Amino acid sequence: MALNDKNYDYLVVGAGPFGAIFAYEAAKRGKRSLIIEKRSHLAGNMYTHTESGITVHDFGAHIFHTDNKEVWDYIRQFADFNGYQNQVVANYKGELYNLPFNMNTFYEMWGTKTPAEAKAKIDEQKSAALADLGDREPRNLEEQAISLIGTDIYQKLIKGYTEKQWGRKATELPAFIIKRLPVRFIYDNNYFNHRYQGIPVGGYTQIFEKMLNDNPLIDVKLNEDFFTHKDEYLAEFPRVLYTGMIDQFFDYKHGELEYRSLRFEHETIDSDNYQGNSVINYTDAETPFTRVMEWRHFDGLADEGKTIITREYPQDWDRSKEAYYPVNDEKNTNLYKEYAKEARTHKDQIIFGGRLGQYRYYDMDQVFNAALNEVRQEFDIDQDFNFAHDEEH
Ligand code: UDP
Repeated sequence: MALNDKNYDYLVVGAGPFGAIFAYEAAKRGKRSLIIEKRSHLAGNMYTHTESGITVHDFGAHIFHTDNKEVWDYIRQFADFNGYQNQVVANYKGELYNLPFNMNTFYEMWGTKTPAEAKAKIDEQKSAALADLGDREPRNLEEQAISLIGTDIYQKLIKGYTEKQWGRKATELPAFIIKRLPVRFIYDNNYFNHRYQGIPVGGYTQIFEKMLNDNPLIDVKLNEDFFTHKDEYLAEFPRVLYTGMIDQFFDYKHGELEYRSLRFEHETIDSDNYQGNSVINYTDAETPFTRVMEWRHFDGLADEGKTIITREYPQDWDRSKEAYYPVNDEKNTNLYKEYAKEARTHKDQIIFGGRLGQYRYYDMDQVFNAALNEVRQEFDIDQDFNFAHDEEH
């Protein structure tokens, strides 16, 4: 008993949201967890830090948005949320457009002023480009995008961005990715359709600290890679929640799943306002980054005269890099199924969770929801979680 030296009930691999929620809820039920995390910080890619009075999201903009009241109430136990609403501007070779695709975008693109005019324009472009589509479903992201908003917007605002983001042709990407973005025939630049939206004042890291630090039933070991002692961990812990890459867990025995990675370049600038918006997307194919975030515009907080911007560069994933996005195309989805089948044969000991453990393009709220459901299942709870917020912070 070298690694499980405190008679832990659970080993949790990964200190991102799935692992943190699970350990926190397990502790509430008297169960002891050891969390190991190969990175040097809590919170996974939700990690934020504060510098020059500015909350920086180190791994890209994390805007919490959900329709799920239970999840919304759950996260607000640990932080106050501001009323941030994401409104993204696209820059295509110096032309500016509002996102997501809405009446403002259509006006900027075509000068159309009514929903009927905009729809007519889209229909005309769609039938010219996809004459053979007929009644069949769009087969890939390109067909899906043209069906939804026509060729002009596809060419200027989607194709270049998408192909650099994913490192492959839009005709080789699954249609569902573009369905993440709303298309609206009203003048509304809100990037999301969800009822609840915001960012925790002071950032996300505090949420993880409140869940995990100073909890007598939770220990966290940072800079600890599960794979250094995989066999010992599995031999010593009765139950394991694993939130890393599922293919790595099985030593890539059926082959490597593909992921997309990102690289972030942060820069502090002597200015109160560098770009005038929290996020600007660069939708041409040539600019090597996809978007630039200016963090002070996410909550209006910053030291005077300082601003911090982050450029987000997509990059190919290899084993030395962080995996950010699963590539849920047909080939990878089929491969994932092999691993999922394998995972089921270990279900008495191991739970696979999160974006990497379940190879799913989860948003934060979906991870929270999945983690709460896992808790419900593990502890045989058939109710919603109830929360009393006011006293806790
Ligand atoms: N997308 C695009 N143009 C944009 C922004 C997004 O074509 O200016 C497409 C792109 O394919 C992207 C997808 O929409 O992968 C989903 O975008 P979202 O902003 O939801 O991606 P995330 O923030 O998760 O990276």
